[in-house]
This record gives sequence, C-alpha cells and structure tokens, in this order.
Amino acid sequence: MIEADGSPGKPVAVIAFGGNALLRPTDHGTQEEQFTLAWKASRWLYEIIHRGYELAIVHGNGPQVGNIMIQVEEAITKIPPQSLDVAVAQTQGSMGFMLANQLRNRFNEEQIEKDIAAVLTEVVVDRDDPAFDNPTKPVGPFFTSYRANLLMQEQGWQMVEEIGRGWRKVVASPMPRRILGSRMLRRMITGGAVLVAGGGGGIPVYQDVGGYYRGVEAVIDKDYVASILARDLEADLFIVLTNVPMVAENYGRPQQRWLRTLPVGRAREMLEANQFPPGSMGPKVRAAIQFVEGTGKEVLITDAEHLKQALERKAGTFIVASGEVSTGTPD
Ligand code: ADP
Ligand code: MG
Repeated sequence: MIEADGSPGKPVAVIAFGGNALLRPTDHGTQEEQFTLAWKASRWLYEIIHRGYELAIVHGNGPQVGNIMIQVEEAITKIPPQSLDVAVAQTQGSMGFMLANQLRNRFNEEQIEKDIAAVLTEVVVDRDDPAFDNPTKPVGPFFTSYRANLLMQEQGWQMVEEIGRGWRKVVASPMPRRILGSRMLRRMITGGAVLVAGGGGGIPVYQDVGGYYRGVEAVIDKDYVASILARDLEADLFIVLTNVPMVAENYGRPQQRWLRTLPVGRAREMLEANQFPPGSMGPKVRAAIQFVEGTGKEVLITDAEHLKQALERKAGTFIVASGEVSTGTPD
C-alpha cells in the first residue's frame, strides 16, 4: 500500500472469523470464558501484526446476537424489546471491548505500542434486495407454536418451524452494498491503529426514499463485508479464518485434494460446480473471488492453528489472481 505522500507504507491485512471463536457452543458461555477465548485470539491476531501488517478485524456474532435475542424474550414483560439491528450494534460493542481489551494486554506483554479502535459500523443494504422477499436466516430463541403465532400476528415476524425444536424467527440476509465511514477507517489504519470493524457483518441500514438511513432487521454475511472492507482499506492480504486448515477439491469425498494455491478463475469454476456449499465454504470463496478480482491481491483461507505457518506460505490455501493450481497437505 501507498501513503498519501507516495511513499510505501506498511502492508494492510484484513481478517474475518466467526463468532464461535469467542463463544463456543460447547462452553457455558460465561463472560470469563469469552475473555479467555479473546485472549487466545489475541495470540494469532498478534502473529499478523508481528509479521509487519496493519490489521483490521471483522468478527462474526451469530452465537452472541442469538443470546441477546434470548435475553429480549425472557425480559419481554419488563423491558421493551430492541430490534435485531440494535442487537447487532450491542454485539459490536461487547465483542469489540473484549477483543480490544485482550489485544491491548497482549501488546503490553509483547511490549509494543499500538492503538486499538473498535468501531460501530453501519453497512448499507438495498431495501429491494431479493433476500427481503424470502427471509431464510434463523436468529434467536426457539418458541412454542402458541408464542410464535402471537409474535407473527403482533410483531409481523416471519417464522419457521424446525421439527422437534420449535419455531424460530427468520430474517433476510441481503448483500452488503457499502460500508459507512470507510474513509475514516482508512485514516485510522494508515495512522497505525488496529481496527475492529464490521462486526457481525455490520449493522444493516438502508436509505429510504427521502435519503434517510434506517436500521433494518437483517443479518449480513461477515465474509462479504470483510471483503468490501479489505477493498476499501486497500488491503494487501484478506484472511478468512475458519475451522478447516485448507480448502479442498471434492471435500469429504474419496478423491479429495487439499489446495495450497487456487487461481481465482479455477475458484469460480469450482463454485459453479457446487464444490462450496452456500451455508459454509460458499460465501467465503465468493468473498475471496470478489476481493481478488477487484484488487489483484491474495486471499488466505485457513484455521487459527495454521495461521502462523500460513503467513510463511507453509500452510493454508491462497486464492490468487493468476497461475496454476497447487496442492498441499495440512499437518
Ligand atoms: P465459519 O463458522 O467459519 O463460517 P462454516 O462452518 O460456515 O465456518 O464453513 C467452514 C466449513 O466449510 C468447514 O468446516 C467445512 O466443513 C466446510 N466445507 C465445505 N466445502 C469445503 C471445501 N471444499 N473445502 C473445505 N471446507 C469445506
Ligand atoms: Mg459460516
């Protein structure tokens, strides 16, 4: 990346990871556990900074926003409810605090001086995105059919039944169009701050006919938002951290092969051949393709365990602008 005066600055990396990294389904979910996980995350986040990158962090918030929706329901007779967009904002605050706090402690331990900014981030979606016609993303608690009927009538919620578990609210998952405040985020990162931004995919807002921005109940995929943020920040590397060490061809099948280098053209072909399911690897590869095609830069997909090695190009999958496919093995 290039500074305003034309001199080369430090390279910029953007990393996206799921809310599970800070709240695992197997845990009780206590605050203490969450701080411990944030402390662990600060170790692999520090690896990226240690390699000389300025860093922006985009965390998911699935389990966390689900918990807020449970709190809303449990307190419904005492405290007026807040909508999903406001709940997303809350998770950006609470998760931003936990990450910033533990990253600061990590920096103290490593004796480096660096500012950290957790930024509330609004992301614009189109009100006429086709996703709003067909909400599919379940959020929050399970309800009895009695309560679900009431909520559908009184609140206008759309709900679906999961057999044996109950009724659940579903919301739309529209595509992000732009991040509000990108210019400020770019100034912060070129100024040397570590950013926590776009948490949970951002607070979804749309512009109404009068031009007013309004929050909307929806969830935005964090991988897509991270891809836009990486472009806006002119990032050199976009890292998608997940729970597999590499991307595979024929994943889970006998002819499976792990990929070390995946040229973007081949990634597109594989996406079209349904090699990456829409609910898991699909959005990650799609977000990667967007970034590589838009910038010519690279995307790394790997897990926390292999991140350090992957930054040395000894692990993980790199989606690149051109070249040949190469395979590898996770160890
Ligand atoms: P996250 O919580 O990080 O969004 P997901 O579960 O949504 O994680 O997506 C990662 C999962 O994608 C992996 O655990 C793996 O089971 C699945 N997956 C699907 N296709 C592939 C593939 N071709 N290569 C690697 N993983 C794949
Ligand atoms: Mg996922």
